[in-house]
Amino acid sequence: MEKKVRVRFAPSPTGGLHLGGVRTVLYNYLFARRHGGDFIVRIEDTDQGRFVAGAEEYIFDTLRWCGLEPDESVQHGGAFGPYRQSERKESYRQYAEQLIRDGYAYYAFDTPEDLEKMRQENKTSENPSPQYDHSIRMKMRNSLSLSVDETKQLLDAGTRHVIRIKMPEHETIRFTDMIRGEVSFDSSTVDDKVLLKADGMPTYHLAVVVDDHLMQITHAFRGEEWLPSAPVHILLWKYLFGLDQMPQWAHFPLILGPSGKLSKRDGAKYGFPVFAMNWTDPKTGELTEGFKEKGFLPEAFINLLALLGWNDGTEKELFTREELIEKFSMDRVHSAGAKFDYEKAKWFNHEWIKQSEAGSLESGVRSLLAANGLDNINSEQLQQAITLVKDRCNLLPDFVQQLGFFFVAPAQWDTDAVKPKWNEAKKLFFAELIRNYELAAVWDVVTLENNFKEIAAANDLKPGELMLPFRIMLVGGKFGPGVFDIAVILGREETIERIHKLIKNLN
Ligand code: GLU
Repeated sequence: MEKKVRVRFAPSPTGGLHLGGVRTVLYNYLFARRHGGDFIVRIEDTDQGRFVAGAEEYIFDTLRWCGLEPDESVQHGGAFGPYRQSERKESYRQYAEQLIRDGYAYYAFDTPEDLEKMRQENKTSENPSPQYDHSIRMKMRNSLSLSVDETKQLLDAGTRHVIRIKMPEHETIRFTDMIRGEVSFDSSTVDDKVLLKADGMPTYHLAVVVDDHLMQITHAFRGEEWLPSAPVHILLWKYLFGLDQMPQWAHFPLILGPSGKLSKRDGAKYGFPVFAMNWTDPKTGELTEGFKEKGFLPEAFINLLALLGWNDGTEKELFTREELIEKFSMDRVHSAGAKFDYEKAKWFNHEWIKQSEAGSLESGVRSLLAANGLDNINSEQLQQAITLVKDRCNLLPDFVQQLGFFFVAPAQWDTDAVKPKWNEAKKLFFAELIRNYELAAVWDVVTLENNFKEIAAANDLKPGELMLPFRIMLVGGKFGPGVFDIAVILGREETIERIHKLIKNLN
């Protein structure tokens, strides 16, 4: 029987989630859904020195906003918990000890000073930062270089120690990556990584392998930056559980910015977000802007992330979550880096805003209007306004500019656009228009437009020359959707009031 697909996203809670992190979540999620499997989130917090308060909650808030809810996690529960590695601390030592018994790992008693001395003594211009590896290990204080008795004494005396993997020399370590195909490493180039730290916590390398095993992970997908760790993980799989048990791996391509790997700095420099949601570093107070707060819709965010390194083989770019689940496949994920283009990201959002119902945009727009002091807005009127202007918006805050005037009369007008051509004839026209609109039997676009044009014709005026002043009266500037559409939503009273106001101002 085929094993049930189980994938995991395994973040270390060290800060906000970068685009690349969310894309890793997304590809995991899509793969799990596509194959009727489980999507697990495991918090890899064994490096307590890097722990950042709030980062774990931020991760879950982000997944919720994106609609990428896991099946199992710290917050969702599940049969394979705990899902926070620090709470699994006790389960790792036995595997490290097993490796020692089998000759694949060793105790190392070196103090920080010993390690520093080793680095200083072995430093050369070709090798500026020497590693603790096969060439060095016998010169250090560990259970390989010391006798059995010495080792035992040190252990009995409770001497601080770590457990290191004994990397074999000149072994070619291979695996088949689902995206890159065959990948191989020379084991001699890899150092004897620490597996268990002096405080009894495992390092990432040991914990990731043990937990992927215990949680019955079938596919492990992660960013390309983890590829260099693969040889260590492969050996651990081989030594502890057997290579036939190892999950299938895929390493996703980097996301590239304007100059190499996309970074937080690129975002700050070019003014675009790289994090999913706003993140404030609790230590420095520094705020990194997020896609959410910038005004992206979660559907658009997911869509653009999906296309950063994948396509379905056609020109199609707009996908709903359901379509992505149906279409997503690992063999169409590119191995080359994916270039992030902020203009393109905004295009995705624009398309999603365009195809969204006003009702689904309402609450987002409403809170932005409220933040700009526009409260107590009638829902029907707001939805009508949203429908009218959504084609003009790339980001949610654009709505404030595009439809704010519906809810607050312009405090200033672009009078320069009107004044030079303002004359008595136009003044009379608008006076008549007011009388006409006061009495109009129906208040709809056709009526308002017809009456406007009839009065213009009767006064020998070109409607084109009257339309601009009318727009400035209603909106304040030379922008916005059709003037008669605007007047309909504003309503009779407000429209007339706004005409009056500008005429008065021009006098
Ligand atoms: N804890 C690692 C990280 O922070 C996980 C890497 C992996 O998925 O194996 O990204």
